[in-house]
Amino acid sequence: MHRVYLDNNATTPVLPEVFEAMRPFFSEHFGNASSIHHHGQETRAAVEDARESVAALLGCTASEIVFTSGGTESDNLAVAGWVAAGDHVITSSIEHHAVLHACKHLETIGCEVTVLPVDGRGLIDPDDLRRALRPNTKLISLMMANNETGALQPVEEIGKIAAEARVLFHTDAVQAAAKVPIDVRRIGCDALSISGHKIHAPQGVGALYVKKGTRIQPLFHGGRHERSRRAGTENVPGIVGLGRAAQLATKSLDRGDDKKMCAMRDRLEQGILAQVDDSAINGEAAPRVPNTSNIRFDHIEGESLVIALDLKALAVSTGAACSSGAIEPSHVLIAMGLRPDQARSSIRFSLGKQTTDAEIDLALSLVPETVGRLRAISPRYTKQTVST
Ligand code: PLP
Repeated sequence: MHRVYLDNNATTPVLPEVFEAMRPFFSEHFGNASSIHHHGQETRAAVEDARESVAALLGCTASEIVFTSGGTESDNLAVAGWVAAGDHVITSSIEHHAVLHACKHLETIGCEVTVLPVDGRGLIDPDDLRRALRPNTKLISLMMANNETGALQPVEEIGKIAAEARVLFHTDAVQAAAKVPIDVRRIGCDALSISGHKIHAPQGVGALYVKKGTRIQPLFHGGRHERSRRAGTENVPGIVGLGRAAQLATKSLDRGDDKKMCAMRDRLEQGILAQVDDSAINGEAAPRVPNTSNIRFDHIEGESLVIALDLKALAVSTGAACSSGAIEPSHVLIAMGLRPDQARSSIRFSLGKQTTDAEIDLALSLVPETVGRLRAISPRYTKQTVST
């Protein structure tokens, strides 16, 4: 049975080229990158090459890249790395829990946190941000692309507001990297997070861009790795994989592959909306990354639809992977003004580099049929749903 995987915002498969680049670093090139002998020099060179590739993807210099264990660590390092008790931090209601829960922790150490609302498209209002600034505001942490809807925040405008107010600006670009071009200088951010496993590199590796001259407090204390910004022996195979994935992503964006993906995503959306009554795209009016679509199918449970589609070999998700199985509706969709039943009836489709037109065709035949079947047995639904 050919399984179709449309849950690439949860994680992406490692690309064959990425795996091949990593392979020797599990065996023949095994040195500790801090060792001064031949073995260490070999892995050090590979780590520094990868740093150059990640820097090229983000438009910064290699020395501004700190390798981490993933998006969660990058977010935590940025959120905790500059603030102290008494400081004020601004974030938003649709951030990933890696930022929201890190900010909750800051409150326990005496920081004040303002959580900005979003509109029905899932976007913050820059005027709300201006109004939220206080004399003691130290950090703004607002994501570039949302993991559930793909909505892109106006990060350049946010960067300007932060610069004028002389406030540090971190953006979580975990779901934006490799999907849209990123230039940290244009954004004007002081820190930007990415994660390997969202861009076809392995799980357990990520990076944080930290603007030159902004001294960040490390989360881990130990050796002087990563210019004393992240102690711990480097995950060399993971870093090599992240570097290769970054190179491939840079080339792919230059070729305009994102436009092809956007066309596939749009075909999926239009096909579903044309065939299924009482369905809608959440956040459709926002600028979005090209691979993500969050669709509401009124009168059914998203979890039931995910399970029914999985039985037909189509993998999708109800939202953030870490909250799947939880009874609470998505905090992102609720913040956008959806009722809890509407949020619970929404599922996310997220395409990857491996997604084909034939797979979109399969999804277009499976989804309307499965929604129709679930509605037919739902006491909450009486209308004919599937167009014939
Ligand atoms: N930020 C966003 C927007 C994400 O989507 C995720 C993962 O889903 C993370 C942060 C956390 O990244 P990681 O899984 O690498 O810890």
